[in-house]
Amino acid sequence: MAIITLRLTAVNSHPEDRPTHCHYCGHALLQKWGTVAKPIRDSQMKKVFVHRYFCIYCERTFRHYTSGIERADQSLRLQQLAALCWQFGFSTRHVSGLFGAFGISLAHMSVWRDVQKQAAALGQKPPRPPMRVLGLDGVYGRVAGQPYAATVAVDVGNDQLISLAAIDEHSIEQVVEWLKPIVAELGIEVLVSDDLAEAAQVAEQLGLHHQVCQFHLIRWVERAVRELRGEIQIEWHAALERIRQLVKELPATGQTELFALYEQLPVERKRRGARASPMYRLRQLVLRLSEHWNKYRLYQERADVPRTNNRTEQAIGRWRTRSRSVRGFKSAGGLQSAFWVCANGSI
Ligand SMILES: [Zn+2]
Repeated sequence: MAIITLRLTAVNSHPEDRPTHCHYCGHALLQKWGTVAKPIRDSQMKKVFVHRYFCIYCERTFRHYTSGIERADQSLRLQQLAALCWQFGFSTRHVSGLFGAFGISLAHMSVWRDVQKQAAALGQKPPRPPMRVLGLDGVYGRVAGQPYAATVAVDVGNDQLISLAAIDEHSIEQVVEWLKPIVAELGIEVLVSDDLAEAAQVAEQLGLHHQVCQFHLIRWVERAVRELRGEIQIEWHAALERIRQLVKELPATGQTELFALYEQLPVERKRRGARASPMYRLRQLVLRLSEHWNKYRLYQERADVPRTNNRTEQAIGRWRTRSRSVRGFKSAGGLQSAFWVCANGSI
């Protein structure tokens, strides 16, 4: 049996503390100015009591709320529960209907506001604990019917979203600008990504070590090898097989071995405008693997670096699953809120 623990904010019927200062001027001399009942929307209570205070200094009064209640009539735990139901896959109208069945009237637009508020809270920044390894990946969706690209940065230790930016993952300059403060704040040392040339440049410009996801590496190498096998002379098939084996095992000696193979391959020139010959492509493949070898096997040198970028993809996957049942996001903000809630929500 699966047990789900919901972390919802408790609601007290009365404030248990006193405000330390005036909400308007910050002065500390306050006088109790009565108690009023506040009707609320909540899963358990119909009303709470709010204390009023008078500031001796600026002579204004203000309300001091009990924990779990703010100015809105929805309690914090009801807001969290509504956002959670949405995260589970209910539409905003379904959440509204579900709450209605329990005697709590909540408009579907309120449910959507709750989701966005929850997202804002999850996206709130410092102080965050330091972390060394950051996963990077592109996210592609649609906003108001138009293609929308974003890039996400994920803590690969716990697959929690660290930051989401409305930047295409191929825009090196923008990605670097976005990540710079995050790298400094958290003390990032390693970037994990797909085998994108842009990601390699981002890592280099930020002075980070780079781990290329082995899953992606194997996938593109297998594809390249398969194509070459159909075109290249049979005497090179053993070399192709060895390349496949090397990217699966990623031995420390791989770089030397690949470079030796590169030197051994006959040089062929590529004529301008013409498709590169199979031998030319094989040499390029071997050179690329040899040059990037250390980026493929960094995980073997550092225990905190994962072999793949799966954790980042899991965070994206949760959002993608949820967004399948949304009839398109109307705004970029809506898509981003959904992402925060799905990636880092309380379940
Ligand atoms: Zn005051």
